[in-house]
Amino acid sequence: MNLLKLSDEIINGKRLTRNDDLSFFADADLNQLCEGADKIRKALCGSHADLCSIINGRSGRCSENCKFCAQSAHHHTGIEEYSFLNKDTLLEDCRKHADKGVHRYSIVTAGRTLVGKDFEHACEAYKEMHEKFNIRLCASHGLLTKDAFLALKESGVEMYHENIETSKRNFPNICTTHHYEDKIEGIHLAHEAGLSVCSGGIIGMGETFEDRVDMAVSLAELNVESIPLNALIPIKGTAFESLPPLTEEEILRTVAMFRYLNPTAYIRLAAGRTLMKNSGKKAFLSGANATITGDMLTTSGNNIEQDKKMLTEIGYSV
Ligand code: SF4
Repeated sequence: MNLLKLSDEIINGKRLTRNDDLSFFADADLNQLCEGADKIRKALCGSHADLCSIINGRSGRCSENCKFCAQSAHHHTGIEEYSFLNKDTLLEDCRKHADKGVHRYSIVTAGRTLVGKDFEHACEAYKEMHEKFNIRLCASHGLLTKDAFLALKESGVEMYHENIETSKRNFPNICTTHHYEDKIEGIHLAHEAGLSVCSGGIIGMGETFEDRVDMAVSLAELNVESIPLNALIPIKGTAFESLPPLTEEEILRTVAMFRYLNPTAYIRLAAGRTLMKNSGKKAFLSGANATITGDMLTTSGNNIEQDKKMLTEIGYSV
């Protein structure tokens, strides 16, 4: 496979689909693969790097059994558990991130869904953030109804986060309390409500490379606007606590492959940047053009200022 020729074709409008032979991604020359992905990113996405920050608005005691997750009540991780944070705490945190030039901010809540008083509370917080701060709003509250998505949009939220986590084939190996199809339904409903969608998953959960390719193709078929890619950091007390961490090469190959299959989406590095040298600098030259950042995060190794400096040094505008 001539990867530079393929990247030119993608820049000129070609789109790879499930019907193409995509097996070459597994053993293509890594440097050429990354070079081609960077070329596609530069041509179709430009030099803007998209930075987002999240706050854990309600922590722990989740009824679901996602095997990777510290917040599941099925695991014993010793994570701090708390009810929905009060509005002042949420607003102050959002203001801090807006002041630091982060582009997007999201409240994330543990749990299968968000309903009742907690959902109303989230909408009130989003409304006030939207009125007061110069930052785009995203939300992540599990499986919601179309009416709930409409209410979020009404409150100023632009993008909804709903990870598909892995391939359809592999999903039952990571969670059995809800299903892959529930996630797909949620993504369709969010789009129908006029929200953009941020959906990706976690690599390093025992899946094959073909599963990762399948996940990338599925997200292309769903037309998601942003794809967060996490590399599993095994957490003690979860079902995946003993899985070995991925190598930098495996992460870069996956990031680059996602760019060929989703040429115009944000490919957003999330957890697991510490598994790569220099907080994943090379991944931003291999297809990725967005990241979760924050001074409280331990998963990138960088704080907001360090991320902005690194991205600027390699040619991005932040
Ligand atoms: S639904 Fe969300 S919070 Fe609950 S276990 Fe799964 S990933 Fe964790």
